[in-house]
Parts: sequence; C-alpha cells; structure tokens
Amino acid sequence: MATFFEEGTLVGVLTTQPLDRALDYKAPEGGCHLGAFVEVPLGPRKVLGVVWGAGKGGFDLAKARSVIRVLDAAPMRDEMREFLERAGAYTLTPMSAMLRLATRAPGLGDPPSMRKVYRLGEGEPARMTDARTRVLDAAREMGGLALTLKELAEAAGVTTSVVKGLVSTGAIAEEQSPRDTPFALLDADYGSKTLTPDQTEAAEALRSAQRAQTYGTTLLKGVTGSGKTEVYLEAVAEALRTGRQALVLLPEIALTAEFLTRVEARFGAKPAEWHSGVTLTERRRVWKMVAQGQAQMVIGARSALFLPFQRLGLIVVDEEHDTSYKQEEGVLYNARDMAVLRASLLGAQVVLATATPCLESWANADAGKYQRLTLTSRFGEAVMPEMRAIDMRSEELPANRWISPSLQRAVAKRMEAGQQSLLFINRRGYAPVTLCRACGQQIGCDHCDARMVEHRFLKRLVCHQCGESKPIPDVCPSCEAEDRLAAVGPGVERLAEEAQAVFPDARIAVLSSDLYGTARELKAQIETIAAGGADIIIGTQLVAKGHNFPLLTLVGVIDADLGLQGSDLRAAERTFQLMRQVSGRAGRAEQPGEALLQTFQPEHPVIRAILSGDEEAFWAAEADERRAAGMPPYGRLAGVILSGPDVQSVFDLGNHLARNDAPLRRIGAQVYGPAPAPIARVRGRHRVRLLVKADKGAPLQSALADWAAQVTLKGDLRMAIDIDPQSFF
Ligand code: ADP
Ligand code: ZN
Repeated sequence: MATFFEEGTLVGVLTTQPLDRALDYKAPEGGCHLGAFVEVPLGPRKVLGVVWGAGKGGFDLAKARSVIRVLDAAPMRDEMREFLERAGAYTLTPMSAMLRLATRAPGLGDPPSMRKVYRLGEGEPARMTDARTRVLDAAREMGGLALTLKELAEAAGVTTSVVKGLVSTGAIAEEQSPRDTPFALLDADYGSKTLTPDQTEAAEALRSAQRAQTYGTTLLKGVTGSGKTEVYLEAVAEALRTGRQALVLLPEIALTAEFLTRVEARFGAKPAEWHSGVTLTERRRVWKMVAQGQAQMVIGARSALFLPFQRLGLIVVDEEHDTSYKQEEGVLYNARDMAVLRASLLGAQVVLATATPCLESWANADAGKYQRLTLTSRFGEAVMPEMRAIDMRSEELPANRWISPSLQRAVAKRMEAGQQSLLFINRRGYAPVTLCRACGQQIGCDHCDARMVEHRFLKRLVCHQCGESKPIPDVCPSCEAEDRLAAVGPGVERLAEEAQAVFPDARIAVLSSDLYGTARELKAQIETIAAGGADIIIGTQLVAKGHNFPLLTLVGVIDADLGLQGSDLRAAERTFQLMRQVSGRAGRAEQPGEALLQTFQPEHPVIRAILSGDEEAFWAAEADERRAAGMPPYGRLAGVILSGPDVQSVFDLGNHLARNDAPLRRIGAQVYGPAPAPIARVRGRHRVRLLVKADKGAPLQSALADWAAQVTLKGDLRMAIDIDPQSFF
C-alpha cells in the first residue's frame, strides 16, 4: 500500500504550473495517499497536482494552505513518478512540463460524466408494429447489456423515434450510465494464425521473455511483409494471458485504422486508442480505464507512453527507426528511448520492430544489450524485389521531366500486365522552388528562411516550415515582371502531371498527406488503391509506412540522391532506410517485385549498399565511421537552439555561452558554434545553434544544466536543449 498522509500533515504537491518544485500543503480531511491526484489553491486559482512526497516544511505551519480535494482517479504509481523524474532529468525538462505530459486528459477531476442507455424494460406496448418487434428482439438479444439510443436503433434497423416510442410505453428502459466504461475484454486465443517456423521461433522467444516478467528489449528485425506484426501480437497475447497491459506505438495515425482491424481479428475486440484524433471525452475514458487496468491494450502515438498504466507488461515500438518518434517541439524526447526507460523501471518488455533499425538500436543489439530476432523471408510467396539503379547520366531526358525512358518502359510493362507501379518522390507539393525568370528571385516565406513550395492542388504557395501560405502571384514580388514566374524541380503533384502526360490512359492516384483533409479520407484512398483502383501511384514518404498493396510490383524512386545531400549526420542512414522501405512495397503478394532507383551517383556507398541488399555491411561501415568520429551512438551530442526576434542578440548570447564553456570542459565536452541553425529563421524568430559533443560516459546533462544556468534569458530570447538531436535544425 502506498504511503498515507493523515489529515493536516504537510505534503509536497507537484503541479502542472511552471514552478518546477513541489509546494507544501496540508493533507485534506480524510488524508491522502502518496501519488494522489489533488486540487490545490495557487494564488487565487485552483490547480491540478500530484502528491509527490512529504512536505519540506521549515516555515510557519499556520500559514500552510490545505489541499482542496482528492480527485476521483487512481493515485499515480511510484514507478510512474520515478519515470517522470528520470525522463525529466534526461531531457532536462522541468517537472511541471513532465507532469503535463502525464495528465493530458481533460476533466480528470470532474465527477463521472453520464449518458443515457437503453435496455429491455418491464412494460408491454399496447400496440405492436414490425419496427417495434425488431427493437424488442434486438434488446433481448443483447441480454443485460445496455446500448445507446443510436446503437439500439441501428441494431434494430429503425429510426430512433421508434425506440423513444417504446420508452414511453415502458417496454424499453432508459437509464443513466457512466460514460467512462471499461474496454471490451480481449481474448488472447481468439484468432491466432498458424505461424511459419521462422515466425514461431521468434514468437516463442518473445513469449518466454514476456513470461519472465522482467525488463528486456528485443530488436525484431524483418523485411516488410515478413510477419513482424503477427509475431509481436503473440507477445501481446502473452502479456494479456499473464494479466498485464500492452502498449503498441505506431509512427503514423493514418496507420491506426488498418491496425485496429487486425487487432480486432486477432483478439476479438477493439483495443483503446490514444492519439490526437481521439475525442476529448474518449481520451478521458482511456486515461481512466488504463489506470484502473480496464483497458488491456492501447494503440497510440508517442504520448501514450505517459498514460498511467496499472500493470504494463509490454511496449511495442513499431517502425522503431521512424523519425516521428522524436518529439521536436515542447518536451524534446524520443519515444523509443523513453519506452526503454519506462520498461526498465517497470520490469516490462520492449519490442522494437523494424525492417531497417536506426543505428542506435542496431549497435545495442550488436553489443548484446538487446536481444535480436530476425525474420528473414517474407510471408507466403512474396520475395524481396530485385533492385537496380538507373544511371541518370546516360538517360535522355528533356528539361523539367523526371521519369526516365528506362523507368517509362518498366511502368508500361506493368500496365500491360494489369499490375501497379509506384513512383516515389519525397517532396510534397508541385514544385519546391518558384523562380522569377526575369530577375532570378526565388519566392521565399516572409517569416522563415525557407522557400515557398507551390501546391497547385491548393492553388497556393506554402511554407513547409511554418505553414504560412499565400495565393500564387501573377507578378514577381521582387521585380514586378508579369507572367515570368516558373516552377522549378519536381514534387508529387508535378510528377503526377508528367505521369499523366506520358501515360494518358493510366489511372493515377497521388498519396501525399496534405492532399487529404482527414485520416478517414486517406484511409479510403489507400483501400481503393489496394483494391486495384489505380495503375500508377505517385507518393511521398507516406507510402513507405507499412501499407499493403498486393498488386504493386514496381517501385520507381525518382530521386534516390535526394537524401544524400545536406550535412545531416544521419543522411546516409535515412536514405538507406527509406529506399529499403519503399522498395519493400513491391511484390508483397504473389507477384515478384522490382525496384528501380534513379540516381546520378550509382557508385555512392549508400546506393551500392541498398542495391546489394547487404544490410550488415552497411551498418558495420556506418558504425565504424561514427565510432571514429566519436559521434552517436559512440559519443553523445546535445543541440542548443537559441532563438529571438533580433538576430544580433541571439548571436551575442550564443557567443557568450561558447566563451563560458568551463562547465562543459570539466567533463571533456566540446562546443561547436554558434552557427545559424540550418533553418535559420522560423516564424519570424532567428535561430542559432550550438552543438555539444561529449564522450559516451560523460555526465552531459548536469554539465549542460550548469552551463545554461550561467545566463539569464532576457526579453524574447529562448533556449531549447535537445539531448540526442535527431534532426539538425
Ligand atoms: P510486417 O509487420 O513484417 O510488415 P505483417 O505481419 O504485416 O508483416 O505480415 C504481412 C502480411 O502477411 C499480413 O497481411 C499478414 O496478415 C500476413 N501474414 C504474415 N504471417 C502470416 C501467417 N503466419 N499466416 C497468415 N498470414 C500471415
Ligand atoms: Zn514560413
């Protein structure tokens, strides 16, 4: 049982207000437990808090204010408080911000919200009709279970007024019931598939790890379509059998619908969902049910890691290499690393599933810190596509055209065979640059150091940095020449236009996140394509993420060199992952697939590694390079981004920090910069970056904290510290 504080004793309460320490209050009437969610007075306001420990005291007790009330929510568990503290210390995040992450459900303190439900009543209607009979039958079939008005009407195939009519006769009873209801029970043995020997072995390893009920991380590696999902669902099943909860993190909300269907087929009911698309009332239900152990499985975005699980036994991070696991705003954390931290504190298992691990995970597996399971072949007949480079230096292609003759021939062949082709370009919009042919000016964003991207579909220029958009002008904003603006370079929309010109009879579908208003529309489009509703799919990064297109047998990568440019530490790794994944789209069913990479540098080591399929060689080489340079995962990096409206004061602050680097030198760390951040201006704020590099074992966080504490941020200046930066802006 958790520590209990008697009424009137001093307790330390951490609130979600930016104070960064627990404040002392007197325990309320009836006392309170350690970890209790409470409402406390703060100045004139009432705020949410958690009892974090005993009060510090040291002041006149008569002045202490009392906790107003204890909220109707399960107290925060010790391990959760420890997790928040450790995660906050690692990411150098104030505890109030960490607590906000853990309380992202509205109305936690409100009394249970009620809704009307309907079940079979005692009364007899004087007059029976067909419709009324159907309602009574439907209600009878539900046994004791109550339905909402809409559900009951739908089950009976009648309008809601028929149900209401029966309520007035007493034949159907109307009652109030709490909205926050438990989730349907999942059945671990409901719809299990017969696994291949490869899959069975991997599933058994995960199951036995799960049974041990201790901490462990497994890297589950396998090409797309090899059955990783089937295998880790077996680990989920084992967690359910042992009475523990499971959390599955997905990198993209658009993937949840497809995944929910699979979970339902496997366990006979839908799990809980947690992401930005979930309504506020549903969020509160999930939060509460997770805390009471009445949601056995949660599918979610990275923030689901901060849900108050009662007995979490398994965290799956699907597509663990995906960059969207790194939160880039607010609290800068990497959900993959936080999953490992949370599991290690809990004695739970982590499964990192991917076709192309990030170098960090690969290195951890290589060093034996993670168990490694590999599924080598695709399920069924599917085989990995054959991959070839198209050397663009020897293709004859007119200006402003991107589909090479070789690629055109390959697409034409697939169309004749009634198969699908995917043309991949990782650029949204119509053209990345709009240029004035008269003065050479490129149209940029007014607020950022970024070019405006033409979106012909929206008939606007859009800044991909801040989202600002404006109509496409007729006149150059710089020299006022008329009708001289030209689109330069390809984006998905323009590629679709070219494909339509080259293949006038083809049915072309464009898959790009900004073309769909809602996840539902996107899902519908994906289903149409999967069912054969397109000959050519033009897609961005979105298609790389795990959709199944059984008729797809050709992938053409328009610009395989795109990711190799730029100065990003992870450029090679990213390009490798993306290319492997996109080509993994081809030939998932019975048809063998082919992947063609258009490149101007076929001899580049990354392109060669992709083509050869020798992944181990790629990672080993990449690991050697990082090790030699002392770069992550063999060394540590932190980014410090300073920003403000006035460029000079931002640089002055950066220089001041760079000069006063004693706290960093003490741990042998070096500072680089200040330099303009690769994206030097966002929303009118200038950004300057310092990079700190340290040895692997160095106490980087405490040194950074001491270093940053030397300055006070005046006026509009801001500082953000990013431990293990992923993207370099
Ligand atoms: P991955 O997660 O590695 O991409 P999936 O688990 O999604 O692979 O499997 C790819 C496809 O093959 C899915 O449609 C899945 O249902 C099917 N599949 C995989 N293994 C089996 C199996 N043992 N029995 C039946 N279908 C399977
Ligand atoms: Zn902008």
